[in-house]
Amino acid sequence: MTAVDEFPVLTTVRDFLSGPKKLLIGGEWVDAASGRTFATHDPATGERLTEVAHGQAEDVDRAVAAARRAFEDGPWARMKPNERERLIWRVGDVLSERAAEFGQLEALDNGKSAAIAQAVDTGWAADVFRYYAGWATKIHGSTVNVSMPFVPGGEFHAYTLREPVGVCGQIIPWNFPLLMATWKLAPALAAGNTVVLKPAEQTPLTALLLGEVFQEAGFPPGVVNIITGYGDAGAAIAAHDDVDKVAFTGSTEVGKKIVAAAQGNLKKVSLELGGKSPNVVFADADFETAVPGSLNAWLFNHGQCCVAGTRLFVEDAIFDEFTAAVAEAASQVKIGPGLDPATQLGPLVSQEQFDRVTGYVEAGLSAGARALTGGKRWGESGFFVEPTVLVDVQPEFSVVREEIFGPVVAALPFNAEQGVAPAANDSVYGLAAGVWTRDISKAHRVAKQLKAGSVWINQYNGFDTALPFGGYKQSGWGRELGADAIDLYTQTKAVNVAL
Ligand code: NAD
Repeated sequence: MTAVDEFPVLTTVRDFLSGPKKLLIGGEWVDAASGRTFATHDPATGERLTEVAHGQAEDVDRAVAAARRAFEDGPWARMKPNERERLIWRVGDVLSERAAEFGQLEALDNGKSAAIAQAVDTGWAADVFRYYAGWATKIHGSTVNVSMPFVPGGEFHAYTLREPVGVCGQIIPWNFPLLMATWKLAPALAAGNTVVLKPAEQTPLTALLLGEVFQEAGFPPGVVNIITGYGDAGAAIAAHDDVDKVAFTGSTEVGKKIVAAAQGNLKKVSLELGGKSPNVVFADADFETAVPGSLNAWLFNHGQCCVAGTRLFVEDAIFDEFTAAVAEAASQVKIGPGLDPATQLGPLVSQEQFDRVTGYVEAGLSAGARALTGGKRWGESGFFVEPTVLVDVQPEFSVVREEIFGPVVAALPFNAEQGVAPAANDSVYGLAAGVWTRDISKAHRVAKQLKAGSVWINQYNGFDTALPFGGYKQSGWGRELGADAIDLYTQTKAVNVAL
């Protein structure tokens, strides 16, 4: 039995799931060239939801050709910025109108709470489309006062043009399927590119529904192409000679493969990769906000967040009291299927992820860690893991060093401001960090020392569409969101005219 049978599900969602899903290539929904499909599952039960076309290299070729045609010759290539703006804005509006549908579908495919998927994932996705709709009319070059010292006496008029990069391949993970698609598609389209998107094999459905929205909004054929498939389809995009740029979100391991594959035509590469983010709580922090804030830091989205604050550094003086309070709050979290309105924590996305997370917990416990709460599976079916707070951990434990991507936090004591930033920075990753203190000077001092792309003070997960996001060190290349994402999807041409 799937959650579809157990909870009220919108007719539109049932209809969407009623038949096999196809690839979106050149404005048409088509089967994979091989005719093959693969199943996508409900992680709350492990049951099959529907079949999805199994796209592979040949399908990527077809999609890239469609994207190239749309970029060079189609109506998209001739469209004015304000026309692109209206289309992108319309996608945001349709997402808002159909937020309940997207929320339920995301809950079924990914496991997260439908209410959160509706309000946060879909609500924010709509905001991201509207934000970048506005950018479409605001991308411009500048005039440059050139001196041209080697051409005495000449007069020149020089200016720059900001042009789209071309055909963009975008490869995304399963933790925020709709949002990751949105973060990539919206700026790419605002800048006038065309796209071949590959959703994660675990969670292809909301990207396909988004494909329908693009059609409904009136995007010309070939501007957005969607290839569902496994890593080999992603690899074909990364290596494709007619793809001008590849944007990837996922593991650092695969990120390195993307860089290697992109070398053939030296396509532009941007990467949002893994993390093992520190969350630093000083003894003078406001206890009442720091406890729920620190819980949210590692537990939001079941810990399946690249920014998850999974190394909880707590100052000695409050370590026992603070970790006990976080553990108590974690033990109160309501676990269940995403479609249950009472659910706060759903299942992990897959058996593979379940095995990985429970494997890390077992490794930590057998190395000498102690679980203040959690430490095991929840229930008898589905991929649920109890929220787990580990103490008595050492910096070299795998639960402290490696990204777990599940509801597990490792808490470490520290005894002075001077030592905490070096300890927090002792990681190959540098995606995000949190600092909790009432001493604003100390907060800024520590924020400056942290090697992370995002630092949150007296809050965690403080994202905004206008704020750039990305990683230091092995957490990535480039910045998404904000004006920075427009840089990723444009290139600058310098034009110099002898008058
Ligand atoms: P993953 O790297 O295995 O897969 C991500 C995507 O890459 C999927 O679409 C997959 O099919 C594709 N892929 C796999 N092998 C490929 C290859 N050789 N070439 C091209 N594409 C390939 O990651 P995952 O397990 O799906 O996601 C979890 C990871 O993603 C975590 O490590 C997490 O930190 C990271 N992540 C990072 C961010 C961020 O913004 N920095 C966001 C979400 C997730």
